[in-house]
Amino acid sequence: MNMEVKNFLETELFEKLSSEPSIFEFLHSKCLDGLFFRDLEKNEVEWMSDSFWKLLGYDPSEVDDTIQSRRNRIHPDDLITAHENYVMHCEDSSHPYDQIVRYKHKDGSYVWVRCRGMVIRDDSGKPIRLLGVHYDVTKLKETEALLKQKNIELEKLARHDYQTSLFNRYAFAEVFEQQVLLASREQVPLSLAMIDIDHFKNINDSFGHQHGDKILIEVAHCLQSLVRDSDILGRFGGEEFIVLMFNTSHKEARLAAERIRKGIEHCILSGTKPVTVSIGISTLGEKSIAGIDLAPSEIYDEMLSRSDKALYKAKQTGRNKTCE
Ligand code: GH3
Ligand code: MG
Ligand code: MG
Repeated sequence: MNMEVKNFLETELFEKLSSEPSIFEFLHSKCLDGLFFRDLEKNEVEWMSDSFWKLLGYDPSEVDDTIQSRRNRIHPDDLITAHENYVMHCEDSSHPYDQIVRYKHKDGSYVWVRCRGMVIRDDSGKPIRLLGVHYDVTKLKETEALLKQKNIELEKLARHDYQTSLFNRYAFAEVFEQQVLLASREQVPLSLAMIDIDHFKNINDSFGHQHGDKILIEVAHCLQSLVRDSDILGRFGGEEFIVLMFNTSHKEARLAAERIRKGIEHCILSGTKPVTVSIGISTLGEKSIAGIDLAPSEIYDEMLSRSDKALYKAKQTGRNKTCE
């Protein structure tokens, strides 16, 4: 870019700004959502451009155009930030007077306004004026809030099975490893149960896939009511569920698994037949997992493998039972 041309035009604009009021008018009304100039000597008198009041939904002629009436429209939390920035900026100009504040609109909603300003000082350095500009950033803030909400939803979707809302396999593995560290610190045992619905394919084949889905959701709800609050429940795959039992010995895990198995059998019917499950359990560290020299992910793999073998045994030896 040719710097000389730029400088020439910049100089011309600067001169026209003081000689032609329409230029100043254009700049503050069309480029900004409010311009103010405050006298810091005369008890805080200020001039505020009309565009600011229009932004808040007012006809400029209907408002009490005083600093106090403007301040009264600022959200109290933001007023504190603005005041702190103002004090610091007066002490040291390198501290920016720059903040986003919420102004109450005439209709009761909040308008998000970025407010930036600079003090103008006298020869002794004392602040005598404050020049400020306002930009409406409401759309940006609304988009930000929407994105945040979407991220929370995405995070939930990434960690939870959409049908049953239980932890999915990925999230379960992550939580499992955290629990291993906790169990090691607290010197307690961990048990793992793998639960698989018996002859689920027959349920689908006899009553249709939608009915199968309904049964899956019922089983998930039933499991939620059967496990303890301290247990972690996940959907491992199609018709397989997994439960991590914190501070649970092998004997206790066996009792818990049987309670779960019988609970499902008594609660859920497909047509006229009870739905049953087979369960494989494993325990690591009968009294505590503290002495086990394996990384949390290795402990996960080891327990998964043992429970899987136990589940296979339960299937092979008749189903609707717990094996270890
Ligand atoms: P087993 O007692 O040996 O476990 O027999 P099974 O029929 O339960 O096991 P198999 O692995 O043969 O079949 C599992 C079936 O589960 C097959 C698959 O279509 C079905 N399935 C997996 N996920 C879903 C799902 O989300 N909804 C429905 N309706 N069916 C599913
Ligand atoms: Mg299966
Ligand atoms: Mg099955």
